[in-house]
Amino acid sequence: MEKKSYNLNDHVIMKKPHACKTNEWMITRMGVDIKLKCVNCGREIMMDRIEFEKKLKKVLGEQS
Ligand SMILES: [Zn+2]
Repeated sequence: MEKKSYNLNDHVIMKKPHACKTNEWMITRMGVDIKLKCVNCGREIMMDRIEFEKKLKKVLGEQS
């Protein structure tokens, strides 16, 4: 199984697309909870790490 490592400001792909049909998010906060910002519509969501890792599909890394 592929190991998933991620850092602040990394872009990630989740298993389910956002309501705006974009599936790319940026990690804007990493603590007990992970905060993600949708790169298309700018909406932010929070979830705990366990949920995040369960829903995470792919880490794209830091994008310029
Ligand atoms: Zn969105």
